Amino acid sequence: MKLIFLGPPGAGKGTLATLVAAEYKIPHISTGDIFRTAIRNKTPLGLKVQSIIDSGQLVSDDITIELVQNRLMEDDIGGGFILDGFPRTIPQAEALERIIDIDRVINFDISDEDVIARLSGRRMCKNCGQNYHMVFSKPAVENVCDKCGGELIIREDDKIDSIKKRLEVYRKQTAPLIDHYKKQDKLTDIDARPQAE
Ligand code: ADP
Ligand code: ZN
Repeated sequence: MKLIFLGPPGAGKGTLATLVAAEYKIPHISTGDIFRTAIRNKTPLGLKVQSIIDSGQLVSDDITIELVQNRLMEDDIGGGFILDGFPRTIPQAEALERIIDIDRVINFDISDEDVIARLSGRRMCKNCGQNYHMVFSKPAVENVCDKCGGELIIREDDKIDSIKKRLEVYRKQTAPLIDHYKKQDKLTDIDARPQAE
């Protein structure tokens, strides 16, 4: 199954993608995770994209498309995959169509208010990049990574100004993909409102 998870920041795409990918033993390809790993490792790509990402804007289509194109040439994608956070613009979707045929696009439906509530609880391991949420996906010990014992921090782009910027960018540049895939009859909507605990 070749899937795209589409939706605003904080909709829970990454969390669900991790679960589904593990269940079906297919790769979870998150462009955001790839960029953040590059930033942590201070690679040339990381240095180039860091300030753009921290400010909540999108990395250029050229850089992002090349990255995904290379990833989809690796030999673990034969049994399917989940693309999480790509495509995010119409040109990215059109480029993807030239690379490979997608089966289904899962659209995570959630309001701006819920996004803000959700992102403000999000934490990330400073050391290994593992994601947590103070309400929805807590570590066993407060502020400590389950995987590596690292300290949990708030992502630079999860601060309120960047969140607002990312929502604006999402509505303007990414939401048009909903119609794009609806026209292709590939869209499935899911209710991504956070569940009260
Ligand atoms: P979110 O938590 O908002 O879903 P991601 O982890 O998917 O965020 O992405 C974090 C940041 O990485 C984005 O705000 C953007 O700057 C950059 N990024 C990720 N995917 C893309 C993409 N497909 N095109 C452009 N920029 C991207
Ligand atoms: Zn960790």
